[in-house]
Amino acid sequence: MHTLYKDSNSPRIEPQELISSNPFGTFFGVSQAVLDQVWGQLTHENGNSVAYISMEIGADPDVCNPVKDLLGDLPVADISDPQLLSFIEKLRKGPEKIPNYSGGLGVLAGDTLKSFADCHIPVAAVSLFYRHGYFSQYVDSLLGQISQQVSWKPEKTHGLYLLQDPDHPDQPLTIDVPFINEHNQDSLAQAQVWMKMEISQQLDFFVPEFLLDFHLPGSPELIKKAARQLYNAESTIIKAVQRRMLGTGILPLLDTLGLTAKTIHLNEQHGVSVVLQLISQELRQELNGQSLTSATDQQILAAADRVAQHVVYTIHTPVKAGHDRFDKGMYAGISRSSCQHLLNLLARDDDSPHSYNFTTLAMQVNRATNSVSRLHRDVTRKQFPQFAHKISAITNGVHHPTWISNNRARVFDDFEELRNWRHDPGVMRQSEQLKDQPRFRNRLLQAWQDDTSRLYHLVNQMLMEHRNQRQKTWIDPPNFYSSLIDTHNRLTPDTFTIGFARRFSTYKRADLIFDDMDTLCEILIENNWPVNFLFAGKAHPADEPGKTLIKMILDSQEELYRKSRGLANLIFIPNYDMKLAKIMVAGVHAWLNSPKRPLEASGTSGMKAALNGVPNISIMDGWWVEGYHEGATGWKFGHEGPVEEACLSEDPSTLLYKEDSAAFYQLLPEILAGFYTGSSPELFLDKAAMNLALNIPIFNTHRMTAEYLQRYRLSLPREQEKIMLRHSSCYDSNRQ
Ligand SMILES: *Cc1c(COP(=O)(O)O)cnc(C)c1O
Repeated sequence: MHTLYKDSNSPRIEPQELISSNPFGTFFGVSQAVLDQVWGQLTHENGNSVAYISMEIGADPDVCNPVKDLLGDLPVADISDPQLLSFIEKLRKGPEKIPNYSGGLGVLAGDTLKSFADCHIPVAAVSLFYRHGYFSQYVDSLLGQISQQVSWKPEKTHGLYLLQDPDHPDQPLTIDVPFINEHNQDSLAQAQVWMKMEISQQLDFFVPEFLLDFHLPGSPELIKKAARQLYNAESTIIKAVQRRMLGTGILPLLDTLGLTAKTIHLNEQHGVSVVLQLISQELRQELNGQSLTSATDQQILAAADRVAQHVVYTIHTPVKAGHDRFDKGMYAGISRSSCQHLLNLLARDDDSPHSYNFTTLAMQVNRATNSVSRLHRDVTRKQFPQFAHKISAITNGVHHPTWISNNRARVFDDFEELRNWRHDPGVMRQSEQLKDQPRFRNRLLQAWQDDTSRLYHLVNQMLMEHRNQRQKTWIDPPNFYSSLIDTHNRLTPDTFTIGFARRFSTYKRADLIFDDMDTLCEILIENNWPVNFLFAGKAHPADEPGKTLIKMILDSQEELYRKSRGLANLIFIPNYDMKLAKIMVAGVHAWLNSPKRPLEASGTSGMKAALNGVPNISIMDGWWVEGYHEGATGWKFGHEGPVEEACLSEDPSTLLYKEDSAAFYQLLPEILAGFYTGSSPELFLDKAAMNLALNIPIFNTHRMTAEYLQRYRLSLPREQEKIMLRHSSCYDSNRQ
């Protein structure tokens, strides 16, 4: 039998020892001792743990999988135990995607949970399980985005387990969730529970994600529909039911599993209906058996204040579409009258007396409201002045071991000063001293070039495939360049490459830099500068303006190519996901973000680029206000008005296309001259080293976790407290 070592000074691990079980199932990836320890913490009567609630969690195993890293090349022939063999087969050959996320919010949740695991913070996450995931994106140059239902096989996916009923181990565990039936009578909805484990890099801790699966044969049709797809927008009632499934499922889940978390962290307001249940519980005790409808307003407000002591809330966007509001009449059809009484008091909507506003509810019932960057804190205080005293900033981060490319990681590993970067991202500050060492610069440059080649290999292969498919299928390839590409004519990695990938929505202005094609092309032609723009991203299937933006990107390709006399290419890579994100952020020469300030509350894809040393070119919005460091790490452009005068509208007339695109054209020659003239690659290497030194210590989820701990009121062992203090000492998000 092979013995494995996680790293040179950790204890050896036998693969057999990675199988563990408890009354809810048999799991793979951590030892029995680790399973027992974590489960013991989460079910301990002292309640010293957190329930983390998120509508979506993005943690695809193909970008981060500590178990696979360890067992990757274990010869199968050596394994005699059939159970171990089946776990390893699943790990090697099973699906590597869990399509339960749509974008930044979900990926942030996944990154956060991975850091909780690495830092040994006792947390259990709760989310929903979507039978049809989000959607797969196909792109046709004439039709634009085509959304296709994803088919995925959770049963065959490594690291995902359907929990079993401890009393009937051959049957799945089900929980009963209070609901209302179509006759407005109390009823119960059933859910099964999937568990995904976010396992620490050392395999010595994990954070369970409990995914509630309401799509059962006996479920009512409305619930089945709401359980099928993340952000199903077929109707507002389905949307409301989906939110309720998450919020109302939390307490029955915790109860059934015996989880004792005293703090609930709402990652966005989607699951906020849990506070209605908690307030009802409080009132029931107080009213001593009397009906809840007899509660007075004072009693309700006092109960809400008590419940608030247990809730921490993170708000992620100032954009209206991110704040759920539901018509009161519609909501009456899916809730009890006592619940409506609570909502009338706690979920007022300033804009409409006929709606409930669930952001107001979440704002009202918490002990700490967190925004996701400093600028977003100021915007949120302006948006919700009555709650300004509770609102503070914890700037987002990303899970650095997930997002730093293997090539970059090898460089960091080879320099003594940086070697501990996986566990202590603060050590990367020392890249500033390494910046002028030729060996460091050469290694960094080589890693960057290797990542760029990898990206170009993928892009050229895709373009060729699309060209060939055109002859076989009805799909018109989404790239004009597919009509030009052949074995001699390819896109080349020495061309300056700008990356842009994120959800397509109006305020992100994906088409901003193509607003004045003539000016853009003049700059390129005058200097004979070739440029490739690589774009990717999905629009929500119901977001028509978002889909129009994708179509406009496709429609610009040929014009850009011709007007620039072939110097510029705009390529769209379909079906953006975490894996593609990881390849793009590491491979491009600069990462672009062009939202309308201040609507990008944080943004995280730019952080992923920065962690690889790739400079950002960005509007001064979200995290970039904090990551720009006077130009040491990249470039800024566009409008920078004060928050007091900020306009939060997404109306086309307020989107500042003219002003901000002109600012981009003014900046572009400086960047391109830096790349193509004598100072290259030195200028870019300087910026790369400064990104490692200044931005890795800040924009990682270990530091973010350490700041959230100050809101969680957990008690941790002294040693661990010290480690977390080291992470949080790298930064203070809440500084003015
Ligand atoms: C990081 C990431 C996002 C978020 O990008 P933003 O810049 O925050 O908009 C969205 N989708 C995927 C797949 C990602 O990896």
